Amino acid sequence: MTTTTNVPAHIDHYIDGRLDDCGAERRSEVYDPATGQVTGLVALGTAADVDTAVRAAAEAFETWSVTPPHIRARILFRFRDLVERETDRLAAIITAEHGKVLDDAKGEIVRGLEVVEFACGIPQQLKGEFSENVARAVDAVSLRQPLGVVAGISPFNFPAMVPMWMFPVALACGNTFVMKPSEKDPTLTVELAKLLAEAGLPKGVFNVVHGDKTAVDALLAHDDVEAVSFVGSTPIAEYVHKTASAHGKRVQALGGAKNHMVVMPDADLDQAVAALMGAAYGSAGERCMAISVVVPVGEEIANALRERLVAALADLKIGPGTQDGVEMGPLVTKVHRDKVAGYLDVGTEEGAELVVDGRRVPFPGHEGGFFIGGTLFDHVTPDMRIYREEIFGPVLAMVRVQSFAEALKLVNDHEFGNGTAIFTADGHTARAFLNQVEAGMVGVNVPIPVPMAFHSFGGWKRSLFGDHHIHGPEGVRFYTRYKTATTRWPNDTKVRADFAMPTHS
Ligand code: NAD
Repeated sequence: MTTTTNVPAHIDHYIDGRLDDCGAERRSEVYDPATGQVTGLVALGTAADVDTAVRAAAEAFETWSVTPPHIRARILFRFRDLVERETDRLAAIITAEHGKVLDDAKGEIVRGLEVVEFACGIPQQLKGEFSENVARAVDAVSLRQPLGVVAGISPFNFPAMVPMWMFPVALACGNTFVMKPSEKDPTLTVELAKLLAEAGLPKGVFNVVHGDKTAVDALLAHDDVEAVSFVGSTPIAEYVHKTASAHGKRVQALGGAKNHMVVMPDADLDQAVAALMGAAYGSAGERCMAISVVVPVGEEIANALRERLVAALADLKIGPGTQDGVEMGPLVTKVHRDKVAGYLDVGTEEGAELVVDGRRVPFPGHEGGFFIGGTLFDHVTPDMRIYREEIFGPVLAMVRVQSFAEALKLVNDHEFGNGTAIFTADGHTARAFLNQVEAGMVGVNVPIPVPMAFHSFGGWKRSLFGDHHIHGPEGVRFYTRYKTATTRWPNDTKVRADFAMPTHS
């Protein structure tokens, strides 16, 4: 049988255990960023479609929430094995819609699986607390119960990992889920839904509704959605936090970033350059933990870094993410590629020195793709837009400072506080940085300090709205409600009415 590859596939919702187009009247184009071809047409959900999914999830909650945690965990164990078995196929889907290189796509699947592995240990995480004899013949118990239907809204840049930051923990805790993936690379989430079903997840427990603002707004306002996990840009994170909170929901909304890497004069230069190349240009800079600002302390290390980075950029292998040896793929859409290119004009007009201009890199044979080369700006200052704003592309800005104190102040004065790193050989400097820096995730000689799944992920300042970081212990807290009970079993002891505050004495 032959298949045609130039007919865009319809990408539909997954509701109550089956694919459903819900009679979609609106669809959005999904591209292969390496060719610029439209490869898919994703259904854009309406408020009615969201309601159908939420109702399916609410019905499923009745039995899923009382399914013993170790039975829920067994399904996740099977899901983990299925995703591992399917990694190559899933990574190819990510590369086809996002553009990142295959190894990077496999890497995000592994990071997502680590959260599934954490969630497999949910019986241990959900163990409550018990105190015997808080008064004579009175005991106290505390427990964590699921919330109900919870929603997840995810960005384009990690179509596997970010949804897997959310739903494994939520499901393990006994909630049911409605996921709204990015409309730019929506296929992967549907594949995960199918694998969950194959692992034995009952229908209605995990649903996928595609869409844009219409679907998001419907989730934020729906009476039966108890909590919302959001990951995306800061303006939308703030909007989601405000709107869902106004509707009485629990919200965690992770936003954008501008991550600084401070390089002290005593840093290992080879290590710092290798770290910067991967962290600034890996995944074409489309990572919330990408390093987009390098802060060398002192002119000598700044000049040395600049020289090495220019040489390394000349060697950076850019091309389709499926091609062997390629280190950086295209950007996700033409609109985004043009926005990133526009920042190169902005930076030049603002007076920064454009040392390496990614627009000059030719891509023979790939003219239709959304490619741009790695870019380096030097002599960037804090008042510039290219310093203040998140570009989310392969653009590294160098801000030169003369002391550790100046570097620390720079990081702390920025409105974002997602991740940051310091490269140094001195333990005291590293310790002072860790202690005083205002960011949620800190690396010491580690450029992208993404916490492991059994810790929690999240930024500070305008990189996170809400109280809870995502996955790990914070995820369990976010997806459960705390309940305490004080219990006494009647016996022969006479109990008198007590009009003073009970003191359990
Ligand atoms: P985005 O904010 O444009 O979209 C995120 C989600 O919000 C998508 O599902 C999208 O459909 C929806 N959305 C978009 N516009 C909306 C609107 N007006 N109203 C309601 N919903 C809307 O983000 P993106 O471009 O997909 O992803 C990149 C951004 O995500 C970057 O800013 C990056 O830093 C951030 N991000 C942050 C983290 C983190 O952990 N802090 C992780 C990954 C990505």
